[in-house]
Order: sequence, then structure tokens, then C-alpha cells
Amino acid sequence: MKLTIHGCRGSIAVSSKETVKYGGYTSCYEVRAGNTQIILDAGTGFRNVSLQKDAKKIILLSHLHHDHIQGLGFNKDIFNPSCQIELSSALCEATELRDNIQTYYSGSYFPLDLTDRLQNLNFHNFSALNENNTDNILIESLEMNHPGRSFGYSITHKNKKLVYLSDNEFEDWQLTELCNFCENSDIILWDGMFNDKDLVERKGWGHSSVKQGVNFFNKVNCKKMLITHHAPERTDYELDKINSELPDDIELAFDGMTVEVI
Ligand SMILES: [Zn+2]
Ligand SMILES: [Zn+2]
Repeated sequence: MKLTIHGCRGSIAVSSKETVKYGGYTSCYEVRAGNTQIILDAGTGFRNVSLQKDAKKIILLSHLHHDHIQGLGFNKDIFNPSCQIELSSALCEATELRDNIQTYYSGSYFPLDLTDRLQNLNFHNFSALNENNTDNILIESLEMNHPGRSFGYSITHKNKKLVYLSDNEFEDWQLTELCNFCENSDIILWDGMFNDKDLVERKGWGHSSVKQGVNFFNKVNCKKMLITHHAPERTDYELDKINSELPDDIELAFDGMTVEVI
């Protein structure tokens, strides 16, 4: 299994000389497992994903906040009619998902009616995703603690397991179910948007801190954690400082990062 990070910024894309190192694209993570290409969220980083011609392609959305879907209409491969893609989310059924994406990508908000235009974009119920699975990949979901709801996912292939936990406001009541969900995992992607001050001032906004990620990692059976969904105001200098203070098996994600899960 191979992970490529195309967008690890939270909330809104940023571009400045102070965010070059960690990057400014919003949520998009590519997982290659066997002959399947799974895209976790289609934030602005989705623009840079190369959709593989011969692979089975799945876009899996945690939720529909704009930083997780804003890149959907800006990937060049998606406009190729022969590029068949499955789009799904544990958030809602396929018809509702299609309606929501259509609203965002049409009318007053977007120059094309994207879902009508892209007949190669096939909406699937999440419950049907593990059927017809030629690569023996198991995809599971867990509801996060986030305003408007959001879902985390685990992807298991050949005894390797990746867990995506974004967007989530960690609270103690989640500990047992999160530990169970992450049991025996190789890598966890953790929403570490907030610092201690943010946690107090932005309570109820739906995000966790880096420190909470470190505490959770110490309680769970997992080999490695990547902290992601960086706050838009966090500079490379600040992120470098945070990164330098992290334990060995935890690091900050950056745009362009690749990790072989072997
Ligand atoms: Zn987000
Ligand atoms: Zn969100």
C-alpha cells in the first residue's frame, strides 16, 4: 500500500512564501492498494492527482465541507469520458451525495453542471463499496465528532491498514471506539489543526490538536501517525518547530509526501 499526500491544509487553501514547505492545498490523500486507487477527499489537492488509466478508481469523501470537495471540478483526468470513477461517502446515500455535489457544482456556484457533464462519475452507496472488490480491500467507516457530521475511514489490504481520521474534534468519550477502529494499524492520519489555545477558543468547530494526537498514539496499537489538516495560518516556521518536538513515530504531513506502507 502506498500513500501520497496531495493536500494537507485545513479549511482553506493558502499560498505564500511562508507555506511552501508543508504546502497549501486542502485535503486530498491518494492510497494505492493492488490495482485500486482510492482518493480520500477531493480538496484542492485533488487537482494534482493523476488518475490511473488501468486502475479501479474510488473517491471517498469524509464529508462535504468545501475544503474536502473544492478540487473535484479541477482535475484534468476527470473530464476524460473513459475515466470511470466511483464516488462515495459514508455520510449519505448515493442519491443524496449526488444531489449535494450537483448543488455545489452548478447554478450560481460553478459554470458547469458537473454531475450532468461527467457521466463517468458514478455515485455509489458506501455499503456497496466492498462488493465487487477484486483487490480484497476492506474499507470501513467510523463517524467523527464534527459539526455537520464527518466520517473517518480505514483501508485494509494484505494485512496493512491505513486509518484516516479527519475532520474530528477529539473528546474522551471517543477513546474506546477510536482505539478499536485503529487497532493493529500501520498508519493514522490525524486532524491536528488546533493548538491548546485554539481548542479553548474554537471549541465546537470540529478539530483536534497535535498534542491530542500524540496522546492518542500512545494509547493505540499503531506504527506511525501523520498529523494533518494544518491550520491555514500556521507557517512553515511554526510547523517545523512543532515537527521537531514530536516523538519518533509521529510527523507532520506535507504536500507531496509519500509513504510506502510495507
Ligand atoms: Zn476540513
Ligand atoms: Zn469539516
